[in-house]
Amino acid sequence: MQNTKQNFRKLLRSILIGVLLIVAIIGVNRIDTTPKVKNIIFMIGDGMGIAQVSATQIAQDYEPLALERAEYVGLQKTYSANSRVTDSAAAGTALSTGHKTNNGMIGMTPDSLPKTNILELFEQAGKPTGIVVTYPVTNATPAAFVAHVPNRHMEDEIATYYIENEVDVIFGGGSSRFNQRADSVDLFEALGAKNYTIAKELSELAEVHSGNAIMLPTEGSMSSRLDGRDEYLPEATAKALEILTNNASGDGFFLMVESSMIDGYGHQNNVEGIIKETKDFDNAIKVAFDYADNHPGTLVVVTADHSTGGLTIVNGNRRFDLNDHQVDYAFTTGGHTGEMVPIFAYGTGAENFTGVLENIDLPTIMRRLMNFE
Ligand SMILES: [Zn+2]
Repeated sequence: MQNTKQNFRKLLRSILIGVLLIVAIIGVNRIDTTPKVKNIIFMIGDGMGIAQVSATQIAQDYEPLALERAEYVGLQKTYSANSRVTDSAAAGTALSTGHKTNNGMIGMTPDSLPKTNILELFEQAGKPTGIVVTYPVTNATPAAFVAHVPNRHMEDEIATYYIENEVDVIFGGGSSRFNQRADSVDLFEALGAKNYTIAKELSELAEVHSGNAIMLPTEGSMSSRLDGRDEYLPEATAKALEILTNNASGDGFFLMVESSMIDGYGHQNNVEGIIKETKDFDNAIKVAFDYADNHPGTLVVVTADHSTGGLTIVNGNRRFDLNDHQVDYAFTTGGHTGEMVPIFAYGTGAENFTGVLENIDLPTIMRRLMNFE
């Protein structure tokens, strides 16, 4: 009787160990088959709140925007370390480093400690990086992905960080911060020494498919879509992806794309400008989403740093019962606002960007997905 009991226990133990082994093997296999994030395309609509996206949807009579292809959508809280209403410097720093800071500060905590950003982590891992914007590349949002300075207005100093970081692709405005500087240094010489192709417009890069490239068509900001800018942002995004793909040769890259002027038109309370810039950004988002479709291992995260203007969409005739499709746009401020902003995530790893997040969570999740601990 005692023996039978012991044998039965032994049998049970063997079955248990067997089951555990099978579970472990399945578990390991499951980890192995999870697609890994290699490429990250981080797209920031400066000042692009929910109302800005909604106004653009209305402008095209609800024909779906490219960003509506996003499989996973979330919200993020934008407040900075010292203000419920952030500026682009503090929000950019949160989105690039995973640390909240004071308004006006770039790439460092309120006590001026520099913090490594997600672009630098890619560079440190030997992976190519790029920045594509429509404002000067030394403006607050792109600055937060390359520089560490206590004040966003230190743009001469911010420009030098592009050379220090050896960002592969630098497309935007702001050439004056490279060759009309207070210290009289011509940074284009330093870039030339590092074998950068230096261009003034995209067409000059038609034969450039790899290597380092900087294209700054304007001394300051580029023109807006309302003022005649062409399909620059989508085309520059496509060119950056081509160069980074070749530079990475399958090992992964990081690209930050900013639609900079949605914010500017928010400050001006100009809804036509907001819609034109948001639509232009959406065209660039289409390029990135299509790229992710064709390149497994690509994660695209679209978000804003904050909203601007306090834009709301109201009934054009102020009566709800007429249903005549008239809308009106109202603004509550010429400044930024403090409500949550949307996240649209697409491609490999997109499922990690849902729910209500902090802005600092975004680079932290990217870091984890890339195993940059
Ligand atoms: Zn602004």
